[in-house]
Amino acid sequence: MNQRIVIVGAGITGLAAGHEAQRHGHEVVVLDRAERAGGKIATETVEGTHLPFPVDLAADGFLARRPEVVGLVEELGLAGELVAPRTSRAFLWVDGQLRAIPSPSVLGVPLEPDAVAGSGLVSEAGVAELRAGLTRDAAPLLGDASVGEVLRPRLGDEVFERLVDPLLGGINAGNADQLSIVAGAPQLAAAAATGGRFDEALRRQATEAQAAAAGPVFNGIRGGNGRLIEALAATLGPNLRLGHEVTGLQRSAEGWTVATARGPFTADRVVLATPAPVTARLIEPYCPTAAHTLTELGYGDAVLVTFVVEREGITHDLDGSGFLVPRDQGLLMTACSWTSSKWEHYDDGVHAVLRVSAGRTDDQRWLTLAPDELVAALTEELRVTVGLTGQPITRVSPWRQSLPQYRPGHFERCDAIDAELAERAPGITASGAQMRGLGLPACVGQGRSAISG
Ligand SMILES: Cc1cc2nc3c(=O)[nH]c(=O)nc-3n(C[C@H](O)[C@H](O)[C@H](O)COP(=O)(O)OP(=O)(O)OC[C@H]3O[C@@H](n4cnc5c(N)ncnc54)[C@H](O)[C@@H]3O)c2cc1C
Repeated sequence: MNQRIVIVGAGITGLAAGHEAQRHGHEVVVLDRAERAGGKIATETVEGTHLPFPVDLAADGFLARRPEVVGLVEELGLAGELVAPRTSRAFLWVDGQLRAIPSPSVLGVPLEPDAVAGSGLVSEAGVAELRAGLTRDAAPLLGDASVGEVLRPRLGDEVFERLVDPLLGGINAGNADQLSIVAGAPQLAAAAATGGRFDEALRRQATEAQAAAAGPVFNGIRGGNGRLIEALAATLGPNLRLGHEVTGLQRSAEGWTVATARGPFTADRVVLATPAPVTARLIEPYCPTAAHTLTELGYGDAVLVTFVVEREGITHDLDGSGFLVPRDQGLLMTACSWTSSKWEHYDDGVHAVLRVSAGRTDDQRWLTLAPDELVAALTEELRVTVGLTGQPITRVSPWRQSLPQYRPGHFERCDAIDAELAERAPGITASGAQMRGLGLPACVGQGRSAISG
């Protein structure tokens, strides 16, 4: 049946929901308080550079082994613009050197202790712990736990802290000791759930994944993720209303009234694709427990600084996609993406484009620095790590409260939120990064299934 659907939030989740609603012939409006669509996806120019293209200021790629974004990109006629990274070679900064991440590995978990032994990343004792842990028969993981609780006994502390936490903790500017393994690293959770030898479970899984999906693990979009946002906004046309902050939801005889400073919107169904604190505020009058759960979900603060410098202004060959920094190495940066090496569309043949991240839930130093102090500190770290000698042009993109922190039991809490909404506020759906996955495929999937189940 044709319904009136109001979607609150024009991040990737809300835009995907809007597109899906339109496809099904519903009457839809997508409201966002900002004056631009995209939320945490932004592709913009770095002023003062002569780069002939804008650059992603946050997400620059997405998992291609999940079908949601690739499918959406194809529907929007952008299939020809999908690009794979030019390299998968990546490094860790450990003990004053960039060291290649040992291969093969699954989400930072190395499968070959011998490759770790030659990497200089951990001590001999660390390699011995890894060897013993990977091959030990373990009881199957039942339910959820933190990544640290599951992996420390299977890999040893050193490997966990130097190889796994920088990747899994880093993805959400958090800490892998607190991250739900089911919600934050489902592949590892599935391998642990089988029990037995962890290395064998991971190898089996890797073989199955390869057989199921050919092609690259990650994709980007030529010209940046902003093109996906533009294409979605274009399909929505006047149904996308920017500068519309939603201030409340009232139940009415006709369903729901969505209040904004620019007037109300009537809806049979409302999809809230807003960050957790906003969703909590809007549903609190009807679902106080769900609102409380959402308020308790923490967010990580991250900053991404784009550095553009002439290629000869860096002595390192930048042959790879970049490097991660374990927390015990004392740097402010948590990662550095060699963006112009990783993506062909960010390589003008003249400049190196680096995207440097900082910030973790337990390291908020960057928040105490003025933008020029932050740039100065990261410039110094680039001098040490990749031999930056040139004069970079930079753009600082702070992403405050941007990355939801999934603690163990996260999906059970999402189920409880859904159940309370269904019972006490039928017609309202909570969706987006704070619920069932923060990567772009999960957000697109959630947005679409909020409409079509
Ligand atoms: C630095 C960084 C790098 C990332 N890198 C990657 C990556 O490489 N790959 C990947 O897959 N993912 C990445 N992510 C994660 C991913 O980008 C996000 O999880 C995702 O974009 C969130 O989308 P969303 O639609 O759920 O929420 P948001 O993008 O937060 O959208 C919510 C929208 O709601 C609007 N809003 C808020 N309050 C109101 C209100 N009262 N009324 C109306 N509108 C309102 C906001 O303006 C916003 O537009 C990254 C995230 C960050 C921060």
